[in-house]
Amino acid sequence: MTPDRPISDLFTQHRPLRSLEFFPPKDDAGVEALRQTATALKRIAPDFVSVTYGAGGSTRERTAQVCEFLRRDFGFTVMPHLTCVGHSRAELGEMADRIHAGGFRNIMTLRGDPPKGQTEFVPYKDGLRYANDLVALLKAKHADFCLGVGGYPETHPEAPSPAADLENLKRKVDAGAAFVTTQMFFDNDLFYRFVDRCRATGIKIPIVPGIMPVLTLKQIQRFTAMVGTSLPPQLVKRLEAAGDNHEAMEAVGLDWALTQIRDLLARGTPGYHLYIMNRAKGALALAAGLAA
Ligand SMILES: Cc1cc2nc3c(=O)[nH]c(=O)nc-3n(C[C@H](O)[C@H](O)[C@H](O)COP(=O)(O)OP(=O)(O)OC[C@H]3O[C@@H](n4cnc5c(N)ncnc54)[C@H](O)[C@@H]3O)c2cc1C
Repeated sequence: MTPDRPISDLFTQHRPLRSLEFFPPKDDAGVEALRQTATALKRIAPDFVSVTYGAGGSTRERTAQVCEFLRRDFGFTVMPHLTCVGHSRAELGEMADRIHAGGFRNIMTLRGDPPKGQTEFVPYKDGLRYANDLVALLKAKHADFCLGVGGYPETHPEAPSPAADLENLKRKVDAGAAFVTTQMFFDNDLFYRFVDRCRATGIKIPIVPGIMPVLTLKQIQRFTAMVGTSLPPQLVKRLEAAGDNHEAMEAVGLDWALTQIRDLLARGTPGYHLYIMNRAKGALALAAGLAA
C-alpha cells in the first residue's frame, strides 16, 4: 500500500480542511458501530481522520486495529494518536517503526493524560516527560513523519502561566511539529487571541481549531471541567432551556458549532477538526449546514 500523504501537504491546497476524531471502542460491538459511522461519514470525504490513544489496556490495541481498517476499508488518510503514557523510549521507538511500516505518515503526538486514578503525570521508567520529547524521538526515527501536536487556547491546566504554555508549545514546534490542533473551545475570540499570541511567539505552523458539537449539558460540563475549557453563559442558557429534551439540546449544540465554524472559516482559519464522539450525525449535519 502506498504510504499516506503528509497532512502538511494538504494545508497548501488553500481550501479549508475537515478532519474528524474517533476514539477506540471498548468491545467488538463498538467496533461494528464505528464501522457504520465510518460508512456514513465517507459521504462527506473528510481530509483525514484521527484515532485517539488511551491511557492503557486493550483500547490501545484497538487504536491500531481501528486505524488499519479505516485506512484499508474506507480509504481515509488516518492519523493515529500516540502518547508518552506507560511506554519506555525503546517501546515508543518500536511503535514508531510499526506505524511507519504500516504506511502511516501522520501522528498526533501527545504527552497524554495520567491513567485513571492518578492525578499527576509521572513519566514511565525510561520514558518521556513531555510531548516535545516524543516529537523529537519520532522525527529522529523517521524524518518523513508529519506530526500534529495539541494546543490550548485557554492554557493547559497544568501550565504555570499562558506564556509558559506557549513557550512549551514552541518547543514542540522547534522539535519538528508540522501543525497544531487545539483543545475544544466554544468562544472563537479565545482561539483568535491564542493564534495571535502563537504568532507573536514565533509559532508559524497551521493552527487547526478543535470543535466539539455539544450533545448534552451534563456531558459537556463534565468534559470541559476535565480539560479546563470554559462554557459561554449564553450556550449554557440555551442548553438549559432545552430541559431534558436530548434532541433539542443536540440541535442547540449543532447550531452553536455551525456558527463557530462559519465564523472561523470566514476569518481564514485553515480548517476545522471535529470531536465527533464516534457519531456521524453531527458531522453530517454540519457539512450540510456549511454547504447550504
Ligand atoms: C488535539 C488533541 C488530541 C488529544 N488526544 C489525546 C489522546 O489521544 N490520548 C490522550 O491520552 N490524551 C489526548 N489529549 C489530551 C492530552 O494528552 C492532554 O491535554 C495532556 O494533559 C497534555 O498533552 P500535551 O501533548 O499537550 O502535553 P505537553 O505538550 O507535554 O504539555 C503538558 C504540560 O506540560 C507543560 N510542558 C510541556 N513541555 C514542557 C517542558 N519542556 N518543560 C516544562 N513544562 C512543559 C505544558 O505547558 C503543559 O502544561 C489530546 C489533546 C488534544 C489537544
